[in-house]
Amino acid sequence: MGSLPTVIDPRSIILLAGIMGIVMAIVVFFMRRSYPPSIRGLREWAWAPLVAFVSTMLFAARGVLPDLATVVLANMVLFQACILYYAGSQQFLLGRSRTGGWTLVNLAMGAVLAWFTLVRPDYEARLLVVTLLVTLLFLNHAGLYVRHRGRVFGMALMTGLLLLQALVAGLRFVSAVFGLAGSDLMEATWLQSLYITMYSLTVLLLSIAAILMATDRVHTEFEYLASRDPLTGVLNRRALLDACDAEVRRLARAGSRGLALLMIDVDHFKRINDRFGHQQGDAVLREAVQRMQQATGQAGVLGRYGGEEFALLLPGVDAQAALEHADRLRRAVAAPFESGSPLQPVGPVSVSIGVASASASASASASASTQTSVDALFASADAALYRAKAQGRDRVVEA
Ligand code: GH3
Ligand code: MG
Ligand code: MG
Repeated sequence: MGSLPTVIDPRSIILLAGIMGIVMAIVVFFMRRSYPPSIRGLREWAWAPLVAFVSTMLFAARGVLPDLATVVLANMVLFQACILYYAGSQQFLLGRSRTGGWTLVNLAMGAVLAWFTLVRPDYEARLLVVTLLVTLLFLNHAGLYVRHRGRVFGMALMTGLLLLQALVAGLRFVSAVFGLAGSDLMEATWLQSLYITMYSLTVLLLSIAAILMATDRVHTEFEYLASRDPLTGVLNRRALLDACDAEVRRLARAGSRGLALLMIDVDHFKRINDRFGHQQGDAVLREAVQRMQQATGQAGVLGRYGGEEFALLLPGVDAQAALEHADRLRRAVAAPFESGSPLQPVGPVSVSIGVASASASASASASASTQTSVDALFASADAALYRAKAQGRDRVVEA
């Protein structure tokens, strides 16, 4: 396998890869500053291409600096960069990183490389050691993503890149076993060039994959926060209305059985606040929500409509079932607090519930917009709730 005359000089590729690495490190570094600390791994991912760049400089200084720096140290620094990428992935996916074992492997690799450089110079032996370890590290790294089965593009890209890197390093290892590798790094054999081009592209693409993954996670986290009530963790008003909207739309389309909306208001909640303080009032709201969620399970979507007022959306539920469910909720909230609970002094808490339901036929025939149907549903549930209050509270009233 002779050298191809038109292959780009590996030195240029290496240098270009290093510059790309620096640019990507800067991008990731600034991302880390503006992203919430819950997005882990960005620090390692910012450092990795910088460390890789140092190794690039060392490789490029072949013939200028002593072999100990351009061969032994260069490979160790590059391997450490690969370990850093791995540590970043561990942080991102698991929230912690454990790469001490790989760093030890790196030190051992350094000792072996030093032996085959200073004591018994042997390029092929060095190549075997480095490519084998790099293959194993990339396989390990890819395995982490395969186990996590992320469905976002960034993760797929990351997994693909790592597997490709493992494949190319493995190919290089096999070629070294059969004595096909060039006798020197700067000799532009076909495989050597492929490897170096791969490497430079990988530095760029790994960072891009990391950025995509982190951005996707920020997006998901913000979306979650934007849709939740911070006190109780249930949907906030906007998200609740969105959910109702989607459900009413579905009702009009498919022949679903029906849809019910429960408006739930804590009785005399102001008194609880006045007597036991706002914090205790907050705790009562949290407890009530927890009980209602437990009683509902996956059957419905609970949201905080405002203050001490909640709404439960029950898709596929007819009027009778909705009334029964409302009464289950009422009894769940009214159950006494267990003795020893900090809420015990508050005593029994009750809720009033207004129940409105919509049938598929009514929704289809009333060709009004979904907006008006959602509004109508809320209005009638609210009217029923008002009557429940007027009739003495602690009860369920149908619209
Ligand atoms: P009713 O039985 O008629 O519903 O009487 P109520 O006292 O429950 O109703 P009202 O609307 O008069 O009072 C609701 C109170 O809920 C007033 C408000 O200060 C309190 N509140 C609203 N949001 C919160 C909250 O997040 N935490 C606490 N602790 N109190 C809240
Ligand atoms: Mg109230
Ligand atoms: Mg109220």
